Amino acid sequence: MSITEQAPASTGIKDRIAEVLEKTPKGLLINGQWRAASDGGMFDVENPATGEIIATLASATRQDAQAAMDAAANAQEAWARTPARSRSQILHSAFDLVQERRDDLALLMTLEMGKPFAEALGEVKYGGEFLRWFSEEAVRDYGRYADTPEGNLRMLVSRKPVGPCLLITPWNFPLAMATRKVAPAVAAGCTMILKPARLTPLTSQYFAQIMIDAGIPAGVLNLVPSASASAVSEPIMADPRLRKVSFTGSTPVGKQLMRAATDNVLRTSMELGGNGPLIVFEDADVDKAVAGAMAAKMRNMGEACTAANRLIVHESVADEFIEKLAAKMAALTVGNGVEEGVNVGPMVEAKARDSVEELVNDAVKRGARIVVGGRRIDGPGYFFQPTLLANVPGHARVVREEIFGPVAPVMTFADEDEAVQLANSTEYGLASYVFTENISRGLRIGDRIEFGLMGLNVGVISNAAAPFGGVKQSGLGREGGAEGIAEYTTTQYIGVEHPWA
Ligand code: NAD
Repeated sequence: MSITEQAPASTGIKDRIAEVLEKTPKGLLINGQWRAASDGGMFDVENPATGEIIATLASATRQDAQAAMDAAANAQEAWARTPARSRSQILHSAFDLVQERRDDLALLMTLEMGKPFAEALGEVKYGGEFLRWFSEEAVRDYGRYADTPEGNLRMLVSRKPVGPCLLITPWNFPLAMATRKVAPAVAAGCTMILKPARLTPLTSQYFAQIMIDAGIPAGVLNLVPSASASAVSEPIMADPRLRKVSFTGSTPVGKQLMRAATDNVLRTSMELGGNGPLIVFEDADVDKAVAGAMAAKMRNMGEACTAANRLIVHESVADEFIEKLAAKMAALTVGNGVEEGVNVGPMVEAKARDSVEELVNDAVKRGARIVVGGRRIDGPGYFFQPTLLANVPGHARVVREEIFGPVAPVMTFADEDEAVQLANSTEYGLASYVFTENISRGLRIGDRIEFGLMGLNVGVISNAAAPFGGVKQSGLGREGGAEGIAEYTTTQYIGVEHPWA
């Protein structure tokens, strides 16, 4: 693999960076106004490719969180009465603005999160599609008007917005994780408080300004970045006016929020961690499987909940698969994502790089063989080599825990039952991938695999029209598709005196 020089960025790109950072709002968005934190507090945002501080933002306090809750609660009734066509139009305008400003959004993501610019552009496309999809779903609100079987009542069944929502997003997909929640909430007629991750708040700041430019009314979308997640979430979740929390992040934090949600019996959507298997059967097209593994493993430097965490390969094709995958991984270019030709950026922070290193060392200690990479790369920045591990035993931490890094561990199996047993032997159940040219086998594995998502002969399956979500400890609820808007609505039944009674 090659490593690009950590040379200072050229003057042209430096000017672009300064311009985009300058344009990005630095305050809290509460009731339609950008404002400072109540105590004047700020926090820094770092570029993980260089270790430099690139921006300083207002850090919301408990008091600010309460003000955001007040704004969302006060705006709820009028927003719910706003015609669906108007809400749809706001989302459509936001979609257009995201396209117009795609380079700014992509650059911000590269700067704050580290992903290569080309991948960041891919996320803008993917994330933007939620705005378009839910602008189209906003006006498709079907109810029913029907007799009871006894003919004594008319039933009026309709969907209503669930009410003010708290939306908490992770750092790994700074735009898409926000649009995947904000767009269906807007479409359904809910007001919201968005809390972005401390490590990558800039994209949400910029996106919130897009929503303002698209015409979102004051109080409907409030944005509270903070150095302290609990300072924001605790007072909001304790407030009886909040009706829902939608969280994407790690399983331990999700569990904590689910406990907190019990007090006010909040609706919850939980998109949590994963430990995805990628199974390659002996009848797979190995080249297709290698391409799928590259996409499923290396997308976002492996920092994805959908990442293929365990490559489970039939013993008869393991040598060929490993050799071909090793060639592709060794050809990757690691470096600062603003540079052209870079395929792999840094880990999001030093701690993330260190934990990837620990997992690799643990695997080697337990008998795994390093085929490619295996080491951290000296700073500045928090880089780790794309790494391929063979002969990984089932008790190695790297196959039991979410890796969140560019490390591909290969395990082998002898028959279909063993493959399924290995795949399902985890408390997680988000994304899985299966490679076989036998379609019946592929569909049979679909029946047997305990995962909310499965890619059959493909390594990337996320789409705004698809219901995304996990089973087991990977979460509850679905984002995207028709299911995505249902998460933000509640069903009301009105029993009407029968007109013929
Ligand atoms: P995290 O759980 O550390 O943080 C997620 C968000 O929760 C952040 O905004 C953080 O500030 C906030 N948070 C942290 N502690 C909190 C608390 N006590 N109360 C309220 N909010 C709190 O996760 P992360 O490191 O940002 O993201 C990586 C994790 O997210 C991985 O486990 C990954 O699998 C998961 N993820 C899941 C999906 C999915 O769709 N299932 C998508 C992306 C990421």
